Amino acid sequence: MKIKLYNSLTKIIEDFIPIDSNEVKMYSCGPTVYSFAHIGNIRAFLFADLLQRTLKIVGKYNIKWVMNITNIDDKTINDSKIGSTNWLQEWGKQDVNLHHNLNILTNYYEQEFIKDIQKVGIKQSDLFAIPRATDYIKQMKDLIKILFDKKVAYCADGSIYFNVNKYRETEKYGKLLKIDFDNFRAGLRVDTDQYERDNVSDFVLWKCKKEDEPFWDFYINGVNYPGRPGWHTECSAMEYDILGLPFDIHTGGVDLKFPHHEDEIAQSKAGYGIEPTNYWCHNEFLEVEGSKMSKSLGNFFTIRDLENKNINPIDIRYAMLSAHYRTKYNFTIKGIEDAKKARERIQSYIYSALEKVDFRLNNNAETEKINTLKDNIFFHLADDLHTPKALATLFTFINNNPIDSLSVAEITNFINIMQELNEIFVAWSFEPEAKSNNIPQDIIELAEQRLNAKKNKDFATADNLRKQITELGYNVIDTKDGYSISNI
Ligand code: AMP
Ligand code: ZN
Repeated sequence: MKIKLYNSLTKIIEDFIPIDSNEVKMYSCGPTVYSFAHIGNIRAFLFADLLQRTLKIVGKYNIKWVMNITNIDDKTINDSKIGSTNWLQEWGKQDVNLHHNLNILTNYYEQEFIKDIQKVGIKQSDLFAIPRATDYIKQMKDLIKILFDKKVAYCADGSIYFNVNKYRETEKYGKLLKIDFDNFRAGLRVDTDQYERDNVSDFVLWKCKKEDEPFWDFYINGVNYPGRPGWHTECSAMEYDILGLPFDIHTGGVDLKFPHHEDEIAQSKAGYGIEPTNYWCHNEFLEVEGSKMSKSLGNFFTIRDLENKNINPIDIRYAMLSAHYRTKYNFTIKGIEDAKKARERIQSYIYSALEKVDFRLNNNAETEKINTLKDNIFFHLADDLHTPKALATLFTFINNNPIDSLSVAEITNFINIMQELNEIFVAWSFEPEAKSNNIPQDIIELAEQRLNAKKNKDFATADNLRKQITELGYNVIDTKDGYSISNI
């Protein structure tokens, strides 16, 4: 089925046409690994996952999906600095080697990030690459050198900047968002990674070395500029090296349109002569009482915060997919609980269906009624990923068709299409034993050990056991009576 997507570049919903009909190449701006991802960040990654799964299941494309790890920027550097209060005892003492400290901090949060995304149904194996910025310093320097040679980059106070005015002589700057150039003066510079649209200025490609910060030597025409890359340079160099330009789709939250993505466009066009991508796709914010969920506002929840409130991460996924990705989602615990009820309503219909037939024996059934249901659901998914309409179609069907009113062929057909749909939603179980919560003995033993460790206030062991259980594909949640275990 043809997929339609809203493109932030053209500002309309377009038919999606990949460059190579056999493979869609997609790049998602990944996490900045200086602490745990909050569920606002998770919304961005769930959107990218929904997109790649829909392209695969509804569009029948092969996907090459890349998500980077930003492990060097102002925030990661600050938190790895000697004396940083965020330094965890379990990581050991900080070293005189600043790169070492940065690696310990960011590797820890990267690993936790990978665990978090798996809990919400994003498969690590679906990612072709998860490149770390610090592994691509050479490629970043190469890009900056090209920009320098083309005189679109210049040096000031030991840092290297992109010359926006020079770029504007031949190209448009402000493709994703309209930019007001009224206050713009040539040579006005900003060396932070984040800045507002009305402060548009030359942005930093390479930041001069500072006291107590890790740095790399960088020789241009025999002169050394010790320092480290700017955030925008990182993504441009990684996507060029791994996917090649142009690739099909670039994703991120709407806050990344400016300056991050605008600057990526400018760097690639000026440096490599090609814009990065054909389709820019952005998700709206997860909000809390009208404000963006963010670390700086302190209004955030991580997945582990919600697990401690007995929320299954899969219900976070389902809740987010219940809203369209281009609408704001107001986060409340009640909202997640309602999503859980909705997900379980469908689950119990699936269980009733599984009791009626041995679907493994009849798995080729085709019926008009169920094929129409599938067509309608897929139609909405193909229409700019309209998950709320797809789920509404499913609910209408379930409400109007008690299991006993369906034929064996229809039930079999239904289970088959739900399994296909589950490749996108990752919300339901098709194992009859999961209904009776039939958890393997070794998992129960680990959960028992964890309960004992908690009773003995040995929280480090308890945490370790939880990690082992998660790695084996189960969630353990604390309850009043002890714990409950479910499949991830
Ligand atoms: P960061 O780790 O800050 O680099 O952000 C990772 C991703 O999360 C980016 O795509 C952001 O646009 C996205 N993001 C950050 N906050 C929110 C939010 N409240 N709602 C949706 N997406 C967000
Ligand atoms: Zn990026």
